[in-house]
Amino acid sequence: MKLNRLSREEYRVGSIIRKNIFTLISLPWALQACSTSAPFATVSNSPPQASRAIASISDLDQTLGQIADTHVLAARYLREFDELIKNPATRQEALESEVYARLMAIRMIRESAVANLEAFNQDPVKVIPSDKLQERIQARVETRGLRGTLGRLTSRTLSEGLGTPINPTEWTSLQKQLTPAITSQNWRAQLERPELLDQVNELARAWREDQSSRREPQSEVKLKKIEPGTGRTGNVVGWEYPENTWSLTFDDGPGTTSTDAVLSNLSAAGIKATFFQVTNMLLKNTDRASAVREAGMELANHSWTHANLPRVGQTQLQREIRDSTAEILRIHGVRPKLFRLPYGSGVNTPTIRSLMAGENLVHVFWNVDTLDWQDKNSASVARRAIGQITDQKKGVILFHDVHAHTPEAARLVIEHLKKLNTRFLTVGQAIEEINAHRE
Ligand SMILES: [Zn+2]
Repeated sequence: MKLNRLSREEYRVGSIIRKNIFTLISLPWALQACSTSAPFATVSNSPPQASRAIASISDLDQTLGQIADTHVLAARYLREFDELIKNPATRQEALESEVYARLMAIRMIRESAVANLEAFNQDPVKVIPSDKLQERIQARVETRGLRGTLGRLTSRTLSEGLGTPINPTEWTSLQKQLTPAITSQNWRAQLERPELLDQVNELARAWREDQSSRREPQSEVKLKKIEPGTGRTGNVVGWEYPENTWSLTFDDGPGTTSTDAVLSNLSAAGIKATFFQVTNMLLKNTDRASAVREAGMELANHSWTHANLPRVGQTQLQREIRDSTAEILRIHGVRPKLFRLPYGSGVNTPTIRSLMAGENLVHVFWNVDTLDWQDKNSASVARRAIGQITDQKKGVILFHDVHAHTPEAARLVIEHLKKLNTRFLTVGQAIEEINAHRE
């Protein structure tokens, strides 16, 4: 029976999680530990405070180092989990499992911590006069972590950059002091935080609840038109689609890494896709945003900051749903009709539902998740997507136009679908077609 196999797989994944959970959930804590003010205090999605001085260089470096090391371990763990999702025999069970709900919870925590880190990295910009130094620090955090930062930054560069005298001896001794702590496993013990485990559990519970809204109804109920509203028909998932009809959707952009390449692949294939843009990305990359619009793609809303909406207050919620809709209209001159909740999370939260309905937005899930954020390999992302496409036969495919390997993965998926003579529709077009057969 299914469950027997699942429990073995779950056991395996469970043990991976148990081994790594504290590392994974510690990321926000790592940020918090060295922070002197509110932004990192919790897994908070609120925008960072405008200006904040660096308390000290050692604070900064410890923070950067913990983040970098935690990233490395998180990535390693995600790759292990990915093996399970990749296997067609265990995929569905894995996706529906408790473990996957927890993975999603961990992902949300991790991403909001990364967003906080980015904000943190932008903050020092205001106090570091040298652009070069700032670039250097950022590049090192991204690529090497603390060891790189420690090893390569000299007290003089830092001194100049920060405009503060730094005692070279002090810096050298700090380097010496920190290096063994980072290279050993000791710091991990400090990162164990049971309350963060509670957070994972809570997010996982919400995730599972949201999953129930996505299932195809089993009974022969007469289906109503898909339109903005607080009930189930305010959502599209993918199972409603006509046979062999697919919508490609690209989330989280527009970005400088892959939006251009995604667009040229789509144009080459003559396909119109739906782009769920994040407003703060849109504001950062307005030329790319225009390119998406000018290519005739469908523009849709994916919130202002990509916050996990059930966890934000009413004021921010309005900004994430209402203001972002207005901002897309202002920038693109097109009022979006579709919204996708970050992480698909919060679809049963009444305040979120009524805000979406109030803005005339239909909420869009997906039934094929490429998980292109999980691994850095186009071929394996495409293989996983094609496996799900074979199972589902129609629907909505989720990509993210912010990862370097996504354009090629999308190209491979398109190539596969073209062989099946698939019809490609934007989500908006698909809804119109579905509604034509409903009352
Ligand atoms: Zn997203």
